[in-house]
Amino acid sequence: MPAGIPLTRVLKTAKVKITTKCNRSCDFCIFANGAQGENMTPEVFSTILDRLESIPFRQLHINGGEPTVHRGFPALSRLARTRLPDKVMVLGTNAITLARNQRLMNATLHSYDQILIGCDDEHGNYAEVHAVVPVLRAAGKTVVVNSVLEGISEERLAGLADLCTAHGAVHVTNHVHHIDVGQPANDLHGLCARYLDQHLMIELDGSCYRCFNAMAKEDSEFSVWDEDFAAKVFAPRRHHYRFCGKCHEYTDSGSPAVPAVHLAPASVG
Ligand code: SF4
Repeated sequence: MPAGIPLTRVLKTAKVKITTKCNRSCDFCIFANGAQGENMTPEVFSTILDRLESIPFRQLHINGGEPTVHRGFPALSRLARTRLPDKVMVLGTNAITLARNQRLMNATLHSYDQILIGCDDEHGNYAEVHAVVPVLRAAGKTVVVNSVLEGISEERLAGLADLCTAHGAVHVTNHVHHIDVGQPANDLHGLCARYLDQHLMIELDGSCYRCFNAMAKEDSEFSVWDEDFAAKVFAPRRHHYRFCGKCHEYTDSGSPAVPAVHLAPASVG
């Protein structure tokens, strides 16, 4: 571990967006561009793994877009699994390709520990989710099915709850909360501490956000191309992202820099 990083600081999740392509076009999605999206190059992905090897973190989360439509998905997944053998590997997917393509299902079974599946009317994937959850659970994978409450009927919700109960999967729900849906702007004061050390989102081009929400173009704080990447992951936050003013998740840290500077033990008190 590089010098100067307090031992107490461990990043929970490094989230890598390997594509902005998707096989669906959900109205509420801000992360994908359907068939017009782009794939991350192998060079960027390899550099990300180089950088991640230099920081303490727990989970590598591969998402998109729909990550399984990246034509290199099996190879990238296997590479990450091999190079980061002690990390929890998490796949975020709509499961449509997993239900229809055995090669992609096999790649998932080989490389991932947890599969997070979005399922509601927008995803339009009820049949596929009902097909893949039993397979994934039979292979011992942790499966979490997530439904956006604004986009699913009570009947469908009950059906997913029954499916998850029957196979030992987890069913969670949330609201559309990561987009501007006309809510009043936040009255931002201190910086947001909500996702400190929780999410590092890495975009197609290697730009980084220390929040799963923030993704305004050209708004990143640093990138995987920075030689001091490891220090920057744990450096104090000093400004808001452009998106913060519309974010439901904002929590006021009360501080102009987050986290506060760590004091050496001899200086405390
Ligand atoms: S206000 Fe929202 S977008 Fe900004 S850092 Fe906090 S959680 Fe992320």
